[in-house]
Amino acid sequence: MTSPPKFPPSEDCRSRLKGAPRAVTVKHVTERPAERERRRLRAEYKRSERRAWEAQLPLTLADLRALLDHLDTELGVRGCDHTFAATEAWLAAHEHDVERVIEGLRTLGGGCDCEVLANVDPETHV
Ligand SMILES: [Zn+2]
Repeated sequence: MTSPPKFPPSEDCRSRLKGAPRAVTVKHVTERPAERERRRLRAEYKRSERRAWEAQLPLTLADLRALLDHLDTELGVRGCDHTFAATEAWLAAHEHDVERVIEGLRTLGGGCDCEVLANVDPETHV
């Protein structure tokens, strides 16, 4: 059995808590238009960077994600021998133009299987 709290807040305390300004409110009031504009421009820049990066992809985003999943598994098992062995195997199995795609992956910083995994990751790129 639990006993009622010995010192429930007085009416006075409760009304003071309710009326207390919250940090969020304060932040919005003091935010200046220049800051908002800077944030908007930064977000816009990031979006356009992202679009430019995606435009360079030699695969669709869905295919790239599938390839990266495959590399993640493969490299976890046997490590990277600094070739495109696992990438090539996956591309060939999924009927991609192996040379063209690998050339594109190289351009994006993927010089071997592990570099593709590390440098051509859509989740960490932006
Ligand atoms: Zn490697």
